[in-house]
Amino acid sequence: MPEMANIAWLLQNLKPEFGPFVAQVTQSLRVDLQTYNWESLTANLLNEAKRLKVSKPSIQYVKNWKKNKPTAIFCKYCKLRGHTDNNCAFLHPEKAPKG
Ligand SMILES: [Zn+2]
Repeated sequence: MPEMANIAWLLQNLKPEFGPFVAQVTQSLRVDLQTYNWESLTANLLNEAKRLKVSKPSIQYVKNWKKNKPTAIFCKYCKLRGHTDNNCAFLHPEKAPKG
């Protein structure tokens, strides 16, 4: 189920600020894998980000994911999803997100 891989990947890459949300989602998915799909997960995540008053970069991070589903873009350089080789932090260290 590729959707699950995307969700697992996003959860792993979230900042510690989202810890409580990640724990809750992980718990729900353990009970029922159909609890979330990409759209509902990112929508929930955005609401939670606002509620938790996480930092602006974190909110932007979530918004980017909401816009760009990982399957949609793929980096030819590092083989990771979620960005293209034009924005690859490995290929272009100067473009790596700060903080
Ligand atoms: Zn890359």
